[in-house]
Amino acid sequence: MFDTLTDNLNSVFKKLRSRGKLHPKQIDNALGEIRTALLDADVAVEVADDLLSRVRTRALGEEVMKSVTPGQQIVKVVDEELTVTLGGQHKPFTLGSAAPAVIMMAGVQGSGKTTACAKLAKTLKGKGKRPLLVAADLERPAAIEQLRTLGREIGVPVVSDGKDPVKVAKNALKEAERQNADVVIIDTAGRLHVDAEMMKQARKIKEATTPHHVLMACDAMTGQDAVVQAREFMREVDTTGFILTKLDGDARGGAALSITAVTGRPVYFVGTGEKPEDLEPFYPDRMAGRILGMGDVLTLVEKAQETMDQDSARAAAEKLMKNQFTLEDFLGQLREMRKMGPIGDLLKMLPGVPGGKNAMKELAGAIDEGELNRAEAIILSMTREERRNPGIISGSRRLRIANGSGATTADVNGLLKDFDGARKMMRTMMGGKRMPGMMKMPTGPKR
Ligand code: GDP
Repeated sequence: MFDTLTDNLNSVFKKLRSRGKLHPKQIDNALGEIRTALLDADVAVEVADDLLSRVRTRALGEEVMKSVTPGQQIVKVVDEELTVTLGGQHKPFTLGSAAPAVIMMAGVQGSGKTTACAKLAKTLKGKGKRPLLVAADLERPAAIEQLRTLGREIGVPVVSDGKDPVKVAKNALKEAERQNADVVIIDTAGRLHVDAEMMKQARKIKEATTPHHVLMACDAMTGQDAVVQAREFMREVDTTGFILTKLDGDARGGAALSITAVTGRPVYFVGTGEKPEDLEPFYPDRMAGRILGMGDVLTLVEKAQETMDQDSARAAAEKLMKNQFTLEDFLGQLREMRKMGPIGDLLKMLPGVPGGKNAMKELAGAIDEGELNRAEAIILSMTREERRNPGIISGSRRLRIANGSGATTADVNGLLKDFDGARKMMRTMMGGKRMPGMMKMPTGPKR
């Protein structure tokens, strides 16, 4: 998402770090370059200028000028001030005491509003809530069916009773009582643009349901437009916060950086994909870290805890230590890992080499999803016994396995060799000895 911005900022930081003492003029030059990078990423001008004026004041102060590593100190200051721009402290999404808690979701058409309703419902259900989804978007013909389909997928009931959106919302509140739902999420109508009619309807639904939250889904890919829409929504319906969608896309990311600074309301969640599980809570400090190429290890760990089977991971680690790790275990772990999403996205959460090009990004590019697919197909073509004891796989079996998995014998040989190498390396590492060279994932040879 922030690739270009991150790269541009990192080249400024690299120059700063390479110098000893900094002259105020050098600092101003660097800040000018940071400003260009932010504006190129579509950050609102006033937001960029406000951020940089805070950074400048601190950069010219003692904390930086008297430091032995002023370049490094400036990076720290940018990190802290960017966190402030993004909202400062993390604001947990809370529901208040009313039962049921009503959440109204607004946004322009295509912003990911309907999807966000389902994502939020899934998240809350995961926390033990009993949500009810309400399809009150009667403008877009497919919206009701879309929400029903999503509801079925995540096991959350969906209602849409009535011909008028306000009625639908009111009826839903009664239904929530009957069904004993404790959260009601109302998907309201979007239009192509923010217009008076849409605002009127949103206000009416708000009056009729007194929601605890009026959230707006904002498409991060629409850049400055998203900021303009957010401001208008804020004025008309007093939005309580935002869900930034499509942060997985290749947009420049400026909207994400500007929305809270412009509206004063927090971003609660970010959407990172089309599936109901692709929703992450928003942490300003972690996001700043990601933007500055420092990674986001905490989110990665949380993701792993949520999606991976902890028992199986522990068992695999034990087997590794006892040197009993088989291809079958490897297959299991490969699948667990892939539940977390594309490997490239995961690696991007790891920190890069300070001041250098983000090495993890290069690594992400080097690990090809296709290779992992091939490794999985090859292992699946082996018998159970072969997966447990790859040593028994003869030359003719290698050919059969290759044919069975659409790979070549060289692929099969490569996978077995890498697996053996990785196991040996693990054994050495567990034994506390240093191993020359890099760890190589057993994915077979590159084509
Ligand atoms: P609505 O018109 O605002 O209700 O928008 P939808 O929920 O129908 O979403 C519009 C399109 O964006 C759909 O194709 C969604 O699958 C897609 N979408 C929604 N959220 C995300 C996201 O976070 N990432 C990506 N990549 N796509 C998303």
